[in-house]
Amino acid sequence: MKNTIIISSPAKINIGLWVKNKRPDNYHEIATVMQTISLADTLTLKETSEPGIKIFCDNKDVPTDSSNLIYKAAESFFKLHKLEPNLWVKLEKKIPVAAGLAGGSSNAAATLLGLSKLYEKSVILHEIMDLASTIGSDVPFVLYGGLALAHGRGEKLFFHEPPKTPYVVVIVMPNNLKVSTKWAYDNFVHSANESKARAFDKILSAYQSGDIASLKKLVFNDLESVTLKNYPEIARIKEILSSGNNGLVLMSGSGPAIFGLFKEKREALMAVKGLHGLPVDVYIEHTTKKNL
Ligand code: ATP
Repeated sequence: MKNTIIISSPAKINIGLWVKNKRPDNYHEIATVMQTISLADTLTLKETSEPGIKIFCDNKDVPTDSSNLIYKAAESFFKLHKLEPNLWVKLEKKIPVAAGLAGGSSNAAATLLGLSKLYEKSVILHEIMDLASTIGSDVPFVLYGGLALAHGRGEKLFFHEPPKTPYVVVIVMPNNLKVSTKWAYDNFVHSANESKARAFDKILSAYQSGDIASLKKLVFNDLESVTLKNYPEIARIKEILSSGNNGLVLMSGSGPAIFGLFKEKREALMAVKGLHGLPVDVYIEHTTKKNL
């Protein structure tokens, strides 16, 4: 048996987000298209002789106690397989924290996959996806990866083939700015009588066929009305990244990360020039295929 596994844990972006009604359990129904990207954390999982689950991380904003989603995922894995936990996890964080890029959910997904390999447990798709959904609504998507249309709280997934030619993805993360997903949803105000029911099939097909011009006409993120309104500096980043190019620029999830989708790397590099001197981190990445 192996005693160490190194596994990559990718971020996701939301190509559009429709916030529907609030459910009796206080969660919102949503519709969104999700896509994994090459920006990723690295997890090292090691079986040790000491009992318990210990997490080490190079980013002080990430909790290393039982509130870390890695801990929750590992705990559920050991419980399911009736194993005694004796695990050491090193998390090298590249995905900005509380950014709308599902970093924590992705780390949980990578933990489930990594532990299955470490303990030589066969990965039965419906079993591991069910376990993932008990940890968080984004966890099943990042576990499978690639491209999906999501409904429900984001856990009802319809996977699709990602575009043959990957898009170049620019991620812009304002420094020292975190947005709580709960805060964004709690402050969202519905506008009356809107019907966006058919938009997401169209968004998906424009996205798959590389038709950025149509995508730009169709796509929206409802949570921009909360986050961009409260943080004009994020609205400004969106404006700068969008100007003078044909890319699609949108906020991911509840923000504050803003992404740009481009066909060519040189277009992406031109677009980020305007951000020079601003307190932001910029990542030039690309869309990725599924993990499983
Ligand atoms: P989502 O897009 O799923 O809403 P997010 O990208 O906005 O997620 P995360 O980076 O997952 O947000 O972090 C949200 C909070 O979760 C952090 O502020 C942190 O306290 C907590 N957290 C728990 N586990 C992790 C983890 N492994 N990595 C990062 N944050 C974590």
